[in-house]
Amino acid sequence: MAGRLIVVSNRIPTEGATAGGLAVALHDSLSGTGGIWIGAHPEVGPEESLFEIGDGPYQRLAFQLSRSEYENYYLGFSNCVLWPLFHRRSDLVVLKSAYLQEYLSLNRRLSNMVAEVARPDDLIWVHDYHLLPLAHYLREQGVAAKIGLFLHIPFPALADLSILPDPSIFAEWLASYDLLGLQTQADTARCLEMYRADERAEFFQDGSIKFRDRLVRVKSFPIGIAVDAFQSLADYSTGNPFGAEQPQEYIIGVDRLDYTKGLPNRFRAFGEYLHDYAEGRRPSLIQIAPPTREVVEAYRQITEELEELSGRINGRYAELDWTPIRYIHRPIARDRLAGIYRGARACLVTSLADGMNLVAKEYVAVQIPDDPGVLILSRFAGAAEDMTDALLVNPYDIDEVAKAIDTALNMPAEERIARHRSCMAAVQATDVGRWTKHFLAALIASQGRLAISSGKHDRHSRIGEERPEPRQVKFQHVEKSI
Ligand code: UDP
Repeated sequence: MAGRLIVVSNRIPTEGATAGGLAVALHDSLSGTGGIWIGAHPEVGPEESLFEIGDGPYQRLAFQLSRSEYENYYLGFSNCVLWPLFHRRSDLVVLKSAYLQEYLSLNRRLSNMVAEVARPDDLIWVHDYHLLPLAHYLREQGVAAKIGLFLHIPFPALADLSILPDPSIFAEWLASYDLLGLQTQADTARCLEMYRADERAEFFQDGSIKFRDRLVRVKSFPIGIAVDAFQSLADYSTGNPFGAEQPQEYIIGVDRLDYTKGLPNRFRAFGEYLHDYAEGRRPSLIQIAPPTREVVEAYRQITEELEELSGRINGRYAELDWTPIRYIHRPIARDRLAGIYRGARACLVTSLADGMNLVAKEYVAVQIPDDPGVLILSRFAGAAEDMTDALLVNPYDIDEVAKAIDTALNMPAEERIARHRSCMAAVQATDVGRWTKHFLAALIASQGRLAISSGKHDRHSRIGEERPEPRQVKFQHVEKSI
């Protein structure tokens, strides 16, 4: 890698917080290149420039959100527009012009700060939906460095985008990146569908798109976990995490309490399993669901719904010595989770829409290969694209999920072992260390800005029609001379 790696994300990793998979994965690339991580400080405040936090093998530069940016850029446009929209919950989108205005102004303000530190040979890696227009503003500032975006959440269908006042802005924003990384091939197909509907876009067979004077490459890079590190957490977790409350047999669910995770249907399906299939068996569902974004109304509603459902199911089925649903509305540290996953006979992932779902991968990674538990996985989680030998379910179909619980708990060892082996291969293939290398290699190889020298580019090059290979189009690489 020639220059430095500059990572830009909504949130900067801070001392005290457990390093998430992303921080661990990017550590080597950042340290090895004298890199920089730029992100918002967790506390709102008046600071207008970047400021350094902590020390370590790479620089961390924080920016502060004002109270109004926090409300309109973060809670508003990011989490009340883009999050529900990209997760197929248009009904929960709250459209307010102040949200979009401040989303744009924060991205513009951040682009000034990034432009001050970026050099032309740096690689800038932007993360997630909070910062979609960042490259657009960086290009306006004349930043010539290669810029990639990885979107951690699903890419929406064209029909969903149409509820926005001007959906064409997405094509515009995203075309300023050199590389657009998405979680799955299905996300890539939806992104290409958006560009296909846009008169300004032209296509090459390798999936790259010419948009105005830029070429953007769209590709899937399914994210994973740090497999070895997570397995070690399970190996070194000692003692019984449940103490005297050790359940005989349990199923695990671990999710932020988000409406995208399908938790009410999961509880209903477990209730139906107890009613229709359990026949004297007494498994518990251990559901860890820490709160998230509680100030947003949609999150308050789902919290109440879950409390009501777990209370009702427990009221109906509990015994003096058995609680069917143990609902823990607090975060549990990842090192403790690793041991809890290992002891679970099944893991329930019932997301209605999910970029990837790392819990599915963590569960599989720590199973004992000759006596593994069974992963029950929503077809609508990105992880299902690769983990096709999990028990795939439609999370909207409560009967189907109830039956899958029964199938998982009664599955013969031979079948569990075969399914686990196949899922484990997918977990290893997407190890987050490899993911980082693949993304950065593709960003380095990306074309940057192009000057088409062969005259007008033909409309017949649009995707689905006969079109030239990229090399048949003559262009000059002018990235360094912007
Ligand atoms: N997690 C955790 N403690 C909790 C709940 C979740 O450490 O109490 C971790 C979990 O181990 C996983 C991540 O949070 O690494 C959740 O990632 P996932 O992709 O499943 O869902 P997201 O929250 O990103 O939508």
